[in-house]
Amino acid sequence: GFNCGIVGLPNVGKSTIFNALTKAGAESANYPFCTIDPNRGIVPVPDERMDFLVEKIKPQSTVATTIEFIDIAGLVKGASQGEGLGNKFLTHIRQVDAVAHVVRCFDDPNVVHVEGGVDPVRDIEIINTELLLSDMELIERAVDRNKKAAKGGDKETKRKAEALEALLAEVQKGRMIRSVEGFEELTESLKEYPLITSKPVMYVANVDEAVLAEDNDHVKKVREIAAKENAVVVKICGSIESEIAELDEEEAKEFLASMGLDRSGLQSMIAQGYKLLDLLTFFTAGEKEVRAWTVTGGTTAQKAAGKIHSDIERGFIRAEVTSYSDFETAGSMAKAKELGKMRLEGKEYIVQDGDIIYFRFNV
Ligand code: GDP
Repeated sequence: GFNCGIVGLPNVGKSTIFNALTKAGAESANYPFCTIDPNRGIVPVPDERMDFLVEKIKPQSTVATTIEFIDIAGLVKGASQGEGLGNKFLTHIRQVDAVAHVVRCFDDPNVVHVEGGVDPVRDIEIINTELLLSDMELIERAVDRNKKAAKGGDKETKRKAEALEALLAEVQKGRMIRSVEGFEELTESLKEYPLITSKPVMYVANVDEAVLAEDNDHVKKVREIAAKENAVVVKICGSIESEIAELDEEEAKEFLASMGLDRSGLQSMIAQGYKLLDLLTFFTAGEKEVRAWTVTGGTTAQKAAGKIHSDIERGFIRAEVTSYSDFETAGSMAKAKELGKMRLEGKEYIVQDGDIIYFRFNV
């Protein structure tokens, strides 16, 4: 599965948000949910298309696609130099697919701020500096290693050493790797180096309830930073989210509606986390079960079949594919088929986001 690590300074609301996330996940009985350990939780990804499919098909059961969140507490100033349990946490961050960086944007005199007052710009810089220093150290070591190895005359190793040096120069300027133009090509040959600042990031602005309706200056500053860095912003109020997480699904809907919202901050955070990973969803939809599946872009129909069962991949004959938008217009699978919207695709077909697929296979 894919995962997203939650980072941020102490006392900004990470565990409040993490607990609400996992609690809300546990409450939706239709979804598989598990807590692997106290700091890891797998949550269902909200998807309006899935809701519509369920409403129309009325299956006996539904299974959403999921994303794992990991609460990575303990990142403080000096972490890259081994302050606190610094290096251990940085090692954890290296292993995640995406990062949710929680930033305190709420003013509450009762909650102590480790750095003094509320200042999202300073806070983001503290964390990002640690992440950059950590990447820098890793790249420096890799440059040395590759330069030495390149003396043997291997072209590929030489190219790698050069790519690493180019990256190092950017990181030394304080640039997060993901904001370096063309970084994907640069890092393509460097896949074995899990560089933290090349991972996609969402900033989670943890705000006071009143600020949900309209950004305050803190949030505006977070948005400015995110825009420069190729990152997205999700605004949420941690304390409200933990209240919502106590409610059942119906109550939660009513509560959100009373605040003029159709989705909780957490739901946006989950959906955004999923989006960050550049994944796509296809559906299997029958009366027994409507289910969402996750694949990476470029996955073929036959490989996608293997997500469901290796027998289906092995015995693949063809895929009967209906685009979600066609289903939405038609309102039922039968009607979509009648309108000629169901296509027969072979094993090399590249699965598209929102495809509803029925696999034919030999046993
Ligand atoms: P962590 O150290 O980043 O995991 O932070 P916690 O989740 O433990 O939160 C630190 C304190 O801030 C706790 O007392 C929370 O109740 C409080 N807190 C978290 N989110 C909010 C929020 O949105 N508004 C306010 N006023 N307090 C919050």
